[in-house]
Amino acid sequence: MDKLIDGYRRFRATTYRTNSQLYEDLATKGQKPSTLIIGCSDARVDPAINFDTAPGEVFMVRNVAAVVPPYTPDGDHHGTSAAIEFGVKGLNVPNIAILGHAKCGGIKALVEGEPDGPPKTDFIDSWMSIAAPARKVAFARAESENKARDLPHVCRLCEMANIRIGLANLRTFPWIAEREARGEVVLHGLYFDITKGELFRLNELNEFEKVAPE
Ligand SMILES: [Zn+2]
Repeated sequence: MDKLIDGYRRFRATTYRTNSQLYEDLATKGQKPSTLIIGCSDARVDPAINFDTAPGEVFMVRNVAAVVPPYTPDGDHHGTSAAIEFGVKGLNVPNIAILGHAKCGGIKALVEGEPDGPPKTDFIDSWMSIAAPARKVAFARAESENKARDLPHVCRLCEMANIRIGLANLRTFPWIAEREARGEVVLHGLYFDITKGELFRLNELNEFEKVAPE
């Protein structure tokens, strides 16, 4: 914790000092983020660092594997859906991005696990079952390429399929589909390769394309 407290003091001396007026304005006028990002809890993928954002710019939801559940208003506890609801209906964000990443532990567990076997965890298996369609897609594509035994390759395909399925699940939220149809919100798929520090973006052909780093 000492390292974090030291970091807090650096933040006070640098970022906060430079942005103190911005913090005051955000506190009095409220937040108006440009983008809702649904990302993974993975400590190696920090959107504030990767996108070099200012305070108040991103409304952030992080969960295991950047999974988006389908719209299921059934009275259960849906943390991710609650954050999406607030970002969209409360803050009227004009952009929603799903940020997946390479070497995702949640996706690795999904790929290597037994989808129909008994759960081995209290919450994670049940949560990751939302992304089971991504696993199917990934293995089908890997088999067509004769690479179904290359698990790192299957994981990468699954990480990307999970983003596409997450975007489809976002569109099951009626107030997102309506806003998208009216052009009030744009949905984006992003993939961060932590090994090389490279960002990929889903293009109009539904394929991930490397973003020019400069
Ligand atoms: Zn992850």
